[in-house]
Amino acid sequence: MPCRPRGRWGRGEEGMDSYRCTLCGYVYFPAIGDTDHGVKPGTAFDDLPETWKCPRCGAPKSRFKKV
Ligand SMILES: [Zn+2]
Repeated sequence: MPCRPRGRWGRGEEGMDSYRCTLCGYVYFPAIGDTDHGVKPGTAFDDLPETWKCPRCGAPKSRFKKV
C-alpha cells in the first residue's frame, strides 16, 4: 500500500505522480497530460518522450521533481 494518499483523480494508479518544473513551477499532471504538445491525458511522467520539455519554460525532464 502506498504510504500517502492517492486517488486524487479517482484512479489510484502507480506511476501517476505529478512533477513540478524546478525552474518555473509548472506542474505536469499525468491525468491531464500536455495536449498542446501531443501528450495524451493519462500519460505518466516517466512515459513522456525524452524530447519532451516544460511547455512553459522549455526545461528538460531532468529539471522536474516529483511533487
Ligand atoms: Zn518550466
